[in-house]
Amino acid sequence: MNILLLGSGGRESAFAWKISQSPKCDKLFIAPGNAGTGQYGTNVNLKVTDFEGIKALVLANDIKMVLVGPEEPLVKGIHDFFLADEQLKSIPVIGPQQEGAQLEGSKDYSKAFMQRNNVPTAASRTFTRDTLQEGFDYLATTGLPVVLKADGLAAGKGVLICLTLEEARQELLEMLTEAKFGDASSKVVIEQFLQGIELSVFVMTDGTNYKILPEAKDYKRIGEGDTGLNTGGMGSVSPVHFADAAFMEKVEQRVIIPTVEGLKKEGIPYKGFIFIGLMNTHGEPWVIEYNCRMGDPETESVMPRIESDFVDLLLGVAEGNLNEKELVISNKTAATVVCVAGGYPGEYLKDKTISGIENVRDSHVFHAGTTLVGEDIKAVGGRVLAVTSLQDNMFDALQQATADAARIYYDGVYFRKDIGFDLL
Ligand code: ATP
Repeated sequence: MNILLLGSGGRESAFAWKISQSPKCDKLFIAPGNAGTGQYGTNVNLKVTDFEGIKALVLANDIKMVLVGPEEPLVKGIHDFFLADEQLKSIPVIGPQQEGAQLEGSKDYSKAFMQRNNVPTAASRTFTRDTLQEGFDYLATTGLPVVLKADGLAAGKGVLICLTLEEARQELLEMLTEAKFGDASSKVVIEQFLQGIELSVFVMTDGTNYKILPEAKDYKRIGEGDTGLNTGGMGSVSPVHFADAAFMEKVEQRVIIPTVEGLKKEGIPYKGFIFIGLMNTHGEPWVIEYNCRMGDPETESVMPRIESDFVDLLLGVAEGNLNEKELVISNKTAATVVCVAGGYPGEYLKDKTISGIENVRDSHVFHAGTTLVGEDIKAVGGRVLAVTSLQDNMFDALQQATADAARIYYDGVYFRKDIGFDLL
C-alpha cells in the first residue's frame, strides 16, 4: 500500500525509516519531509495544515493510509476532514479526531478528562479573565512552587513553574489579562507542583485495544546537567530503568486502561498514539500531560527498539484489530543525541552546510531541521539532526551516540554530551 506521512522533524524521519522497512509499504510519501526523509520515500512540498493539498496528493497517488506526525493538523481536524469527504472517508488517518486531540489541545479539557476517569494527576483548577480574583484566592491555598499552564497550544512555552506567590500572581495576571500566550492563555490551569522523575509512556490504540510502546526519557533543557532554557528536546533514552515492571503495571492499571476506557465510554473515537507525560513520585505514577501524537525526540529512541512490522501495527490501529498484532520490543538500549543550531532555543544560525554525516560509525542519523540545496545539506531549523545509537547496554548506547554526534560538523553545531548519563 501507499502511505503518506505528515511532518518534517526527527520524529517523522524515524517513522519514515521504520515504515520504509515494511514489506507492506509500496510507496511512502512524506509531506513536507526534510533532507533525510528523501532516503525513505518521496518528499512533497506541502504544509501539514493544507488539507486540500493533502487531499489532492492522496487521490493522485492512490494513498491508502495517512500517518500524522505533529499535533497541529490533528487539533485542526485533519481526521474529521477525511471522514467528512466522500472520496477520502475510507482512507484511514492514524491520529485522533478533533475531539480526542483536545487531550493535547486544551489542558483544561485533559485535566477534566483525567478527573472524570480517576486518572492520577495533580490537583488543579482552571480560571479565566472573569474569575481572576478567584484565581488569586486559589493561589493563596496551593503551596509553592505552583504550576501555571496556558490552556491551549503554546509550543511548549506555556507552562510556568512559579517559586513565589508574587511571581505566580503576576504571571496569572499577564496570562489572563494581557494575553501573554495569545489566545492559548485565555484560560489558565493552576496546578499543584509534583516532585519526582519524569518519563514518557506511549500507547497505540484503535479505540478499544492498545499496545504499550517502549517508554523513554527526554532531556528538555539546552544546557548540560539539565540547566538553561527549555527546548523542543535535546535527547532521549529508551528504556528507562526506573520504569520497572512494578511501576509499568501501575501505569497500565491506573493510567492506560482508565484512559482508553474513558475515551470509549465518553464516545470519543481515538485511533492513534497517546503520549503520556508522567511523573514518577516515589514509585507512583502521576499524569502531567497527554499528547495526541508521539514525542520528539523520543520517537527516535522508540522506533529502533520496535522489532515488529510497524505498518502492520498501524493497520491494526486503522482496522480495529490491534489485539491481533504482534509487538516485539528489543532489549537493547537506544540513545538519541540532538544536534541543534548555534543560538537555539533563541535566535539561531541558519543555512549552514552540514558535513561529516558519512563519518558516523554506529548510529542512525535522523534528519530534523535540514534541507537540500543542490548537493549540500543545510541546517535550517533549531533542532537539526537526531543521532541515535542502539546498543546492548545503556553505557555503550550513550557513548556511541555522543561520539557519533561529535563526528558531524556545521557552523555553530551544539549538542549535549551528558544525555542519559544521569541514568547510569
Ligand atoms: P511540552 O510541549 O514540553 O510537552 P507542554 O506545554 O505541553 O510542554 P506540560 O508537559 O504540561 O506542557 O509541562 C511542561 C513541563 O513542565 C513538564 O514536562 C514538566 O517538566 C513541567 N511540569 C508540568 N506540570 C508539572 C507539575 N504539576 N509538577 C511539576 N512539573 C510540572
